[in-house]
Amino acid sequence: MLGLALLAACQPAPRGAPVTAAASPTAATPAATADRDIPACAASDSAMEGWNERAPPRRIFGNTWYVGTCGLTALLVTSDAGHVLIDGATAPAGPLIEANIRALGFDPRDVKYLLNSHEHYDHAAGLAYLQGATGAPLLARAPAVATLHTGISDRSDPQQLEFKEGFPAVPVVQTIDDGDTVRVGPLALTAHATPGHTAGGTSWTWRSCEGTRCLDMAYTDSVSALSDRQYRYSEHPAMVAAFRRGLDTIAALPCDIHLTPHPLASDLFARLQGTPGKPLVDAGACRRYAQSGRANLEKRLSDETSGLKP
Ligand SMILES: [Zn+2]
Repeated sequence: MLGLALLAACQPAPRGAPVTAAASPTAATPAATADRDIPACAASDSAMEGWNERAPPRRIFGNTWYVGTCGLTALLVTSDAGHVLIDGATAPAGPLIEANIRALGFDPRDVKYLLNSHEHYDHAAGLAYLQGATGAPLLARAPAVATLHTGISDRSDPQQLEFKEGFPAVPVVQTIDDGDTVRVGPLALTAHATPGHTAGGTSWTWRSCEGTRCLDMAYTDSVSALSDRQYRYSEHPAMVAAFRRGLDTIAALPCDIHLTPHPLASDLFARLQGTPGKPLVDAGACRRYAQSGRANLEKRLSDETSGLKP
């Protein structure tokens, strides 16, 4: 598969066509036990902490597993026909994510596709390593492909000047479109264009089941309107319009279990621990997340008008 994928690097997939991986007879059998030697993440109120600290891998629900770090999410969605890995966190986190996949009893070589939330180093810099560990192509929407393939962003990134050092280039990146469904055996993960934090921002939805109980999983991309010292959202009306459309998309997603690239943004660990008032299953979570994103965007635009922001 890797040979074919190499040939297809940076070539667009047929528009609107489902992306499908061949079933692998060597797919791992799921294991329910995680590595007990990994300490739990320290409680933190800062989304900037724990990025390179290995978190204990754990089941979120059904065949959806947390394999990321204490500060950055990576998700493994598994099946007997192969798996999908979403996000690679930082470069130092790549091997930690691989170790977490193995600790759960899965074989990284059974990962058939890599997916990404957005093309910033804290969610994409580990993907080059993970592509080596899995042999899986990375699928991304067109505005993110060049950045992921080169490790260098362009002026479409509101934070470009802050990330000039770039990140490890991902050799094999294939293009998918808004609404495409990535399929591996019984798995079906759908891409939703939710740009704004970056041009290529993408949210993902799929269903996971435990017995007869099936829930809608929603991995919504970051919705913060951050920028470097030069970028003005108000000078990019198409970006702002797409940002607003993406927020409308997020608000309407099927969303029983809400997940985010920074686990703290959806209080994931507190919810997994059963903290009172923080339910894991909450069908209104995506709508509230979109509302807060919209408020953040409107404040950003107003701050630009009043000169508080670039
Ligand atoms: Zn970002």
